[in-house]
Amino acid sequence: MAAMQLTVIGCSGSFPGPDSPASCYLLEAEGFRLVIDLGNGALGALQRHAELFGIDAICVSHLHADHCVDLGAYWVARQYTSEGPRPPIPVHGPRGTAARVADFGGESLARVQARFTFCDLDPGERRIGPFRVTADHMNHPVETFGFRVEYAGWRVAYSADTGESDALVRLAEGADLLLCEASFLADQVNQANLHLSAKQAAEHAARAGVGQLVLTHLVPWNDRERTLAEATGAYRGPLSLATPGLVLGPASVVPSSTR
Ligand SMILES: [Zn+2]
Repeated sequence: MAAMQLTVIGCSGSFPGPDSPASCYLLEAEGFRLVIDLGNGALGALQRHAELFGIDAICVSHLHADHCVDLGAYWVARQYTSEGPRPPIPVHGPRGTAARVADFGGESLARVQARFTFCDLDPGERRIGPFRVTADHMNHPVETFGFRVEYAGWRVAYSADTGESDALVRLAEGADLLLCEASFLADQVNQANLHLSAKQAAEHAARAGVGQLVLTHLVPWNDRERTLAEATGAYRGPLSLATPGLVLGPASVVPSSTR
C-alpha cells in the first residue's frame, strides 16, 4: 500500500450506539496496522477490517472506557488463542494504561504486560512503524492525548476527547484531515473543559486551516443532521460525519452526501 489509509471502526461518542462501536480508528501503511483507541465494541467491528492478530501497535488517547475498554477484550484474545499466547505488541497510552487494562479483567500487571508492551505517552513526536505520530495534551478531565499522524505527505489529526483547545489547533495546523469530536449540540449544556459542540469543532478546523473535517465521537442521542448543520458555516471546507467502515486516504475527500 503506497498511501496511508484510515478506516473508521467506531465513532459513537461516550458509549456504543445501535449502529457503531465507541471510538476506534485503523491506520494502515506499508502493511503496518496502527489502531487508535479501542472503545466498547470496537474489537468486534475491527475484525471486519483486519485479522484479529494483524494489529502491529495501538495508541490510546485516554483511559475513559469508551476509548480503551476493549483493550481488556483484546488481552483475552491474545492470551487465550488456541495457538498459544501471542507476543506483546506496543500500546502507547497515558501513564496508568497497564493498570487500567489489568483492572478490566482482574488480572495482574505482569500477565497484562506479557501481552502488551506499554509505552508512556508524552507530548512530542515518535515513530510508530512507518508513521510519524505527534501527541499533545487535550482539554479533558483525565490526561488525554490528541494525535497527528503523518505518512508520505498525508497528515491526519485526531482530537480524541477535548473541550476548547489551542493545542488541538496547533496539532491540526494545515492537516489534510481533522477527525474532530462533536459531542454536543448548541442547545445542550456543555460543561467547560470536557467536550466540543459541532460548531466548536468546526471553529477549531477553520482556525487550523485543515483540508477536510470529519466529525466523530457522535453521541447516539444527538440528531446527525443537526450535528452537521450546526458545523456548517463555521468551517467552509469539505465537512462530513464519521460512519463505521468509512475509509479515508489522500485521494478521498468525503462527498457531503456521506451523512
Ligand atoms: Zn473521555
